[in-house]
Amino acid sequence: MKMYTATNFCRLCLNKKIKVGLKLKNIPLGEKYSKVKSIAKNSFRFPLNLGWCEKCRNLQTMEIISPRLLWSDFTYLSSQTKAIVDHFKILSGNIIKKFKVKKNHLIIDIGSNDGTFLGFFKDKKCRVLGVDPAKNVVRIAKNNGINTIPEFFNLKMFFKSYVNKKTYSSKSNAIYLCI
Ligand SMILES: [Zn+2]
Repeated sequence: MKMYTATNFCRLCLNKKIKVGLKLKNIPLGEKYSKVKSIAKNSFRFPLNLGWCEKCRNLQTMEIISPRLLWSDFTYLSSQTKAIVDHFKILSGNIIKKFKVKKNHLIIDIGSNDGTFLGFFKDKKCRVLGVDPAKNVVRIAKNNGINTIPEFFNLKMFFKSYVNKKTYSSKSNAIYLCI
């Protein structure tokens, strides 16, 4: 597996005029820190250069870490942080109110983690679907009753895994995507 790819263009607008303003020392992935000294000492270190797009002004890292390496085994759970849980509760209420979300409408959360956000919609009798590549957090979401696809989101996967199963069109007349 290729661990990262260095870029020379903006990831948002593809502009090639990027000013690399900050070059930091190579560092291990935050998700892969180890308390064991020998493992920590020998862990792979990634370059960390921050670039600024002159066109759209997006500030970004100039290295793209392999998504599988970064997200397939994720240790952070949304439910661990009270501020996030409180925010999700307020946000879900605002979405329901603003978009007039009704019972049985389908809410899809891409990068759904342990299903904390979707849980608030489920409480309001909405149908929910999570998508998250981290199989360990998907297990927790499923144990919490949140239907979750353990993959990276893309349209091909989505139509294959979900839309073709008839559960999509027959019961719901509205779909909302939360990313
Ligand atoms: Zn840009």
